[in-house]
Amino acid sequence: MRITKKVFTDLAVYMMSFGLLTGVLFPFFVLVTGVPRSYILTPVFIISCILAGLLVGGVNILITKAVVGRRLKLLAKRMKYVDSKLTSGLSSNELSECSHEDCIVPVDSEDEIGESAQAFNDLVHTLSISMINEHAIKAFNVMLSSQLEMDQLADKALNHMVGFMNAGAGAILVEQGGDLEIAASMNIRDPEKLLKNDSVWNVMRYKSGMKISMGKDVIVESPLVSFHPVETRIDPLLYKGLPVGIIVLSAAVPFSNDYNYGYEMFLQGLALSLRNAVTYEQLQKLAANDPLTGLYNRRFGSLRLTEEFTRSTRSSLPLGLIMFDVDHFKIVNDTYGHTVGDKMLVNIARISRMAVREGDFIIRYGGEEFLVILPGASIEDTLFVAERLRHMIEDCSVQHNQQELRVTISAGYTSFPEDSVPDETILVKNADEALYSAKKAGRNRVVKFRS
Ligand code: GH3
Ligand code: MG
Ligand code: MG
Repeated sequence: MRITKKVFTDLAVYMMSFGLLTGVLFPFFVLVTGVPRSYILTPVFIISCILAGLLVGGVNILITKAVVGRRLKLLAKRMKYVDSKLTSGLSSNELSECSHEDCIVPVDSEDEIGESAQAFNDLVHTLSISMINEHAIKAFNVMLSSQLEMDQLADKALNHMVGFMNAGAGAILVEQGGDLEIAASMNIRDPEKLLKNDSVWNVMRYKSGMKISMGKDVIVESPLVSFHPVETRIDPLLYKGLPVGIIVLSAAVPFSNDYNYGYEMFLQGLALSLRNAVTYEQLQKLAANDPLTGLYNRRFGSLRLTEEFTRSTRSSLPLGLIMFDVDHFKIVNDTYGHTVGDKMLVNIARISRMAVREGDFIIRYGGEEFLVILPGASIEDTLFVAERLRHMIEDCSVQHNQQELRVTISAGYTSFPEDSVPDETILVKNADEALYSAKKAGRNRVVKFRS
């Protein structure tokens, strides 16, 4: 079938041969129509016919080259361009979607050439979408692996997802002990409303995402977002089949299916990272807080005290310290039981938090012994807080079997630099000494450290 290795040369050979054959046969065809032989069987007429046949063959070749060849050349040019773009996209990570002028071949026919061009365009589209997905997943994973703190992780992840899905608004909700909390939100007027939204809870319950389409022509003013969403999608973030959170995205145009693959990968990666962030948060709390009262534990509180002491020496701002202990607490335990004792300790912690300012902190120093740290508090300020605390605890009661149980505290206080100690451990020791004096002096009182 093939004459040469080149299609157009093959075509030329066929066309010229056909022209030649037409030229040779034409005089005999004319004879059949009854034209006198003397006109036809002359060398001039026969040669003219052959030349005409060859000429038609030659013109056909030129026309074919001009019509088909031009289109094929365009196809080849675009293929080469796309190839170079894909190659550089692979190495540089900067592949953007191929534009019409650069990569796409205009399809102006439904014939084989048109079909080839369309198939090529589809291929380019699929390739570029798949590369965009791949690069987005890579960038998202790099971001995820660099974040451990919940708030930052959720903020950055939401930013990525809103951008990737071309959404206008979104939120990430995280499951904490059976409840949902807002971890990040963007452009949503009242994100708290999401926590009571039925669709959100249905996604949590059934562990499968949903899309709420509002239709392009029906533009509804949403109470949730500050623009008119046309489509909202709510998807669960599943870790080992259990929902660790929810992502909500709203867009002013319907979501494109092109990015579903990347989005699915985002959901999986984010679920795992959120899970890690929750665990990290819990571990940090465990390391820092006393489980009964929620106050800083002694180990973590001592580190914070060292920081505050250093800050105080640098800034020459005072640092007040109150050490207090519950009076006759053993009697409470012995009379009403340990559980009631615990309840009272929780209550004392709650009152102590109310008695101090923001920036102050309280450490559960021992069983029923607490240390209150007051950055910036002079000795007078410290006395004021200590007395307020003593009164508040004295006035408060815990209900037990129709009885109102009350306790008192004794406190020792001091303040750096009036108490010019070399380090914070001596400051604690001094406050403790003052507490001992308060106990000795009859309890339910506040005593200043005296050297
Ligand atoms: P004082 O006025 O001298 O401080 O008398 P006290 O009875 O409070 O002193 P003591 O140190 O002898 O007793 C402290 C008690 O606190 C003993 C212990 O059972 C109780 N206690 C320590 N930690 C806890 C706790 O976590 N829960 C409960 N319920 N009791 C605790
Ligand atoms: Mg005590
Ligand atoms: Mg004690």
